[in-house]
Amino acid sequence: MQVNRRKFFKICAGSMAGTSAAMLGFAPATALAAPREYKLLRAKETRQTCTYCAVGCGMLMYSLGGEAMNSKGKLFHIEGDPDHPVSRGALCPKGAGALDYVNSDRRVQYPEVREAGSKEWKRISWHEAIERIAKHMKKDRDENFVTHNEAGVEVNRWMTAGFLAGSACSNETGIITQKFVRSLGMIYTDNQASI
Ligand code: SF4
Repeated sequence: MQVNRRKFFKICAGSMAGTSAAMLGFAPATALAAPREYKLLRAKETRQTCTYCAVGCGMLMYSLGGEAMNSKGKLFHIEGDPDHPVSRGALCPKGAGALDYVNSDRRVQYPEVREAGSKEWKRISWHEAIERIAKHMKKDRDENFVTHNEAGVEVNRWMTAGFLAGSACSNETGIITQKFVRSLGMIYTDNQASI
């Protein structure tokens, strides 16, 4: 190939630019071969029990943000917990789709009450909700507590109310729940996840 002076300088400039780019790590082959950053790398991992049904599968939930002032955390990935004794990493489609209902605009995140005779639900504080529940429970217990059965045997039971514990409760919460409801004389109690 015949190379004149002008062509010679062009080739040199092109080679130098290519070499510099390669030295800086911009060689296309290297760039394409570089691994993408693992998307869960900086995420906060939280262990949870699926709240959907009584199987009680284990979940790993990954979120970002929420650690600093004015920063709101956002859940962005959910997968089965391989160490969970019930599900061993498996989730059914409902559990695997939990991300959508956790982040749904229509998710109710606070207590609401519909007063007797009203068609409207109104938002109340957690404090008010707990107080109202406690008042209803006391009134019902006062009116319906049974101290003796027909045969005169002392029974001390409250049979007009029941208590259902959530599936995401731990064993410890379950024991405390049992102690609480039994101390009130309540007979009907169950846990949504029978695990
Ligand atoms: S993942 Fe499916 S089977 Fe497991 S607790 Fe949730 S809804 Fe039930």
